[in-house]
Amino acid sequence: MTAFESAFPHQSPNNPSHWVYVHPDQLNPEKLIEAIPENERNAVGFLFIESSHRWKTLPFHKKRIIFEMSAMRHTALELTRKDYSVCYIITDHPFEASLKSVLAGGKAPVNGIITDVNALPPSTTAIQLHAMLPASIDERNALQKTASGDTEHPNHDDNQVRLHLYPNAFFLADEEEYTPKISPGYRMEFFYRDMRKKYNILIEADGQPTGGDWNYDKDNRKSLPKKISLPTFPKINSDAITQEIINSVAQKYADHFGSAENFTMAVTRQDATRLADHFFEQGLPDFGPYEDAMAKGEAYVFHSGLSTYMNVGLIEPLDLCKRAEQAWYDGHAPLNSVEGFIRQIIGWREFVRVYYEAMMPDVRKANALSFKRGLPAVYWTASSWMACMDDIVGSVQELGWSHHIPRLMVLSNFSNLTESDPYQLYLWFWYGYSDAHDWVVLPNVLGMSTFADGGVLASKPYVSGGNYINKMSNYCNSCRYKIKEKTGPEACPFNYLYWNFVDNHRDVFNENGRVSFMVNMFDKRKPEDKQAIKDSAKTFIDALPRWNQISKKD
Ligand SMILES: Cc1cc2nc3c(=O)[nH]c(=O)nc-3n(C[C@H](O)[C@H](O)[C@H](O)COP(=O)(O)OP(=O)(O)OC[C@H]3O[C@@H](n4cnc5c(N)ncnc54)[C@H](O)[C@@H]3O)c2cc1C
Ligand code: SF4
Repeated sequence: MTAFESAFPHQSPNNPSHWVYVHPDQLNPEKLIEAIPENERNAVGFLFIESSHRWKTLPFHKKRIIFEMSAMRHTALELTRKDYSVCYIITDHPFEASLKSVLAGGKAPVNGIITDVNALPPSTTAIQLHAMLPASIDERNALQKTASGDTEHPNHDDNQVRLHLYPNAFFLADEEEYTPKISPGYRMEFFYRDMRKKYNILIEADGQPTGGDWNYDKDNRKSLPKKISLPTFPKINSDAITQEIINSVAQKYADHFGSAENFTMAVTRQDATRLADHFFEQGLPDFGPYEDAMAKGEAYVFHSGLSTYMNVGLIEPLDLCKRAEQAWYDGHAPLNSVEGFIRQIIGWREFVRVYYEAMMPDVRKANALSFKRGLPAVYWTASSWMACMDDIVGSVQELGWSHHIPRLMVLSNFSNLTESDPYQLYLWFWYGYSDAHDWVVLPNVLGMSTFADGGVLASKPYVSGGNYINKMSNYCNSCRYKIKEKTGPEACPFNYLYWNFVDNHRDVFNENGRVSFMVNMFDKRKPEDKQAIKDSAKTFIDALPRWNQISKKD
């Protein structure tokens, strides 16, 4: 018997006729109950479907699989401790196949761990299943298709199982209000101000922003001083249930990305809240000024590391914003840190979700710069001699995570400069990161970081030479390449690749007033310098080892 089975109560506390389906990224049962009509909230049971199919559609990071599986199991157990009936189905098939079997077969969910859905007893009374629509579109479509199959079912009688769907309530922005606004001129800043006002966060009695400004980014671009002490990111001990999952994932998913070792993530609401407590205590005060800073071997710097937990419902975005606001009123953290943190959540996080709703499904194939090459091998090997790339890919392999600037200004930057297919980068981020779900990873990669959407989300491609990385980190000190050299085999590849990119995509730069001067700067160089840049870039790009193209399985 597994530790999960031993912990699972065998007696059914009641025999509910209403069952709430808990999708793997909706681990907040209270929110799910709130979505269903009040008269149907009594005596509900919860239905989980742990589908290994979910983790086989891409080579997902082992720690992400461990996290999701363990967080689902712990949420289920927490509900049993609150005397709810929990039907926990473990299957190799897609989640919707189990739902279909329950619906079409007229099966009654029962309390317990179920490995064969067909063995569930037939329903003897009407059973109502309630499900909130998933945030990511493929899963949402699968659920909606299952529900429409149910409606079309000709033989509904009193003993049938019915499926009711509800809108996703895990986000703060009203998608009907904001999706029509998504267009090249509509920037996150406008949306963010609306959200501040709507949720009355850092807004004074006269309706003006606290401190007089909406945005304190100008104070938030510092590199780390040589002597600064960084918070130690807390490590959560794994219990027997998680330990068992770690061992099984290490074996069953051995060929997947990343390492299963040293798993220290939170898998319960309580532990995720402990991580949030730690951030508010030790990270938030310096979050703002050093938000863009990177340091070798220091993945977190002052970042919260909370996205993974927020994205599955283990912590609430609005609670985090309120806590950050309180930290300002209590004098615990400065306004530039507090406002910066809040902007990431009610600004960027909500904005990318609205963008996703507006732009899917066509944006998935967007490739405005027509890059077709496979992703460089360094994204798997972490051995390129480029200290920045190797350290960051290494931390993704180890943690399934890195903060925003390594994602944007190193990993995506390098992919853009080496003319790699943005779709491949999107898949890589999706399976490499523990916080990646389609609704959030797609806009960040195809919208923000690669300019694949042609300028809807971001006004310019996020590319830079090595100077930016050198300014914001200590990587270049220990790199085999020389940051000061601009061309040739010893030079930092970001240097010549950047100017090669500017030259090749001058139309994109020319269209954007803020960066059009870069084209002039390139054009003013001596012909022999320009040639050296082009030669170095061609040699580097042509010789770069690339990985096989990957496609997502359905
Ligand atoms: C190429 C690329 C891929 C990304 N992929 C993902 C992803 O798969 N999942 C994901 O949650 N974030 C993604 N982001 C956004 C951002 O990098 C992460 O949310 C952030 O680094 C998570 O770390 P943190 O929790 O310490 O964030 P903090 O720096 O502490 O920020 C607080 C919170 O703000 C939110 N946030 C900040 N920026 C963004 C953003 N651009 N989009 C959405 N939420 C944001 C996150 O919920 C985050 O937890 C991506 C960014 C880029 C450039
Ligand atoms: S020199 Fe270039 S490749 Fe090396 S760490 Fe610095 S930016 Fe990265």
